[in-house]
Amino acid sequence: MFRLPPLHDLAAHRRRVVLILMPLGALASLAGRWLSIQVNPFDAVFEPLLALALSLFTLLAWRRWVSLRFVEAGLVMVVALYQLSGLYYYALQGDLFKLGLTATAMWFPVLFALAYLAMTPSGAALFSLGYFVIALLALPSGFLVGHQFAPAAINSVVQFYLVNLAYLGLIGLYARYQREHAALKRQASSDFLTGLANRRQAEELIELELLRFQRYKEQFSVLMLDLDHFKQINDQYGHSVGDQVLRELSLQLSRAMRESDSLARWGGEEFMVLASATSLAQAEQLAERLSLALKNQALAGNLYITMSVGIAVSEPDDTVEQLVSRADRAMYQAKALGRNQVVTHGAYRP
Ligand code: GH3
Ligand code: MG
Ligand code: MG
Repeated sequence: MFRLPPLHDLAAHRRRVVLILMPLGALASLAGRWLSIQVNPFDAVFEPLLALALSLFTLLAWRRWVSLRFVEAGLVMVVALYQLSGLYYYALQGDLFKLGLTATAMWFPVLFALAYLAMTPSGAALFSLGYFVIALLALPSGFLVGHQFAPAAINSVVQFYLVNLAYLGLIGLYARYQREHAALKRQASSDFLTGLANRRQAEELIELELLRFQRYKEQFSVLMLDLDHFKQINDQYGHSVGDQVLRELSLQLSRAMRESDSLARWGGEEFMVLASATSLAQAEQLAERLSLALKNQALAGNLYITMSVGIAVSEPDDTVEQLVSRADRAMYQAKALGRNQVVTHGAYRP
């Protein structure tokens, strides 16, 4: 069974969450406006405005007119502005001290979660803390203009600040778990010696490229690179020099490639290049360029090394295994033909 790479899944899920959350917020704003028995002047103006802004963001995100990042950032700003100005309005005008919090204040903590969705974890932590502190300062501001707590209001105000403090802490903790999870995932998908993508990650990348190829018909290429007589380097100079050669060579090959191509350590002294939107002829050029870059570069002081390259181009109904195996067979052919050369496997021509 085909399994979607997790990264792809996450982005789509994130979009769904935002696309559900925003109309829900718009609905809540309208409900707040029309279900209130007595609409206060602040909400009379700002709840319809908030509903309008959220509907507009929904439209922008749904039609993909702007990036989801932009919509998320806008959402955070608008909701924060609405919540904080509402709180200050009630504090300065006195209702906060007489009656306690309004029903819309229940939405206050949603922003903590939103911030973690829209920003980097440390940015979100800073933002959330600032949001909470500014909200807290509404109390002394109210006292300064002469308001006093009515006993009926104290409990809801105290609960409000405490529950928001709890949310702040909890979401911060979840974000930390998430960061650790991301770090572990990075470790699991990269090669220890060279820092390149490992075989597992490379397979996921090919799977993603195949999906794209099936959808958009844009051919891509896989290049299998195997160093020639690498065992001799180990035998002559020792394993640590061999390791050094592998590290330096990874760097040199990466430098000779386009941003959009990925280099992975397939295993041992075998590397793989995944070249997006690359035809057979372009892949051959790339292979020659990489071979030349390697041939002319002294590694670990004064060692020169060559490689044999096998190329395979994506074909309709390819699986990862089939594509890789074609590149592999081409590479073995290059070895058989005397090494230090590029061999292409039968190309797909529509
Ligand atoms: P050929 O041209 O046929 O590919 O010859 P070769 O010597 O490169 O091929 P072979 O597969 O016989 O040997 C691969 C060598 O790569 C053997 C192994 O010691 C070495 N090797 C694999 N991984 C590492 C590594 O992480 N560090 C070092 N130093 N050597 C490695
Ligand atoms: Mg080899
Ligand atoms: Mg090998």
